Amino acid sequence: MNIVLLGAPGAGKGTQAQKLVEEFGLAHISTGDLLRAAVKVQSELGLQAKAYMDAGKLVPDQLVINLVKERLEADDAQSGFILDGFPRNTAQAVTLDSELAAMERNLDAALLVDVKPDVIVKRLSSRRTCRSCGYTAPAGVDVCPRCGGEMYQRDDDKPETIQKRLDVYQTQTAPLIEYYRGHSILKEVDGDRPVDEVYADVRALLTK
Ligand SMILES: [Zn+2]
Repeated sequence: MNIVLLGAPGAGKGTQAQKLVEEFGLAHISTGDLLRAAVKVQSELGLQAKAYMDAGKLVPDQLVINLVKERLEADDAQSGFILDGFPRNTAQAVTLDSELAAMERNLDAALLVDVKPDVIVKRLSSRRTCRSCGYTAPAGVDVCPRCGGEMYQRDDDKPETIQKRLDVYQTQTAPLIEYYRGHSILKEVDGDRPVDEVYADVRALLTK
């Protein structure tokens, strides 16, 4: 099962991905995690990415694509994967399709976790993130349950920046919904419900 996850920041994609990983043994490929890991081990791509990040610039598409490609070739991604945070725009989606075709693979589903913008704003402004491992939890959790690291509010999750992130999502990433609908692999789920209810629908959509 090869899946692309779609949805606004804060829609709960990571939580659903985790559940799919546990049940179906898919490789969870998050570009945020990939970038952090590459920088940490100082791989060639990691060092290139770090130069952009240190300069406060966006890591270029091609570099991200190379990282994803390298990750898709790893052993644990052969039986299936979930892409989270990639593709972020239609150009990346087109590139992904051609890279997969070159590997004689294809996408089975683009799963959209749909949540209304006002709900997203509420969710994100109460979100805290682990400084060490990137785990997220609602405000009130001060110590990371996964690694014991310190939980803090990312600048990205402050109300003044959330609207900007949603605007970027609307202009760049939302067109992907139409792209995948056009390829007849779009599956939509209402993400504004308890996690387990959302997952029950996700599971039904992906296994039918
Ligand atoms: Zn942690």
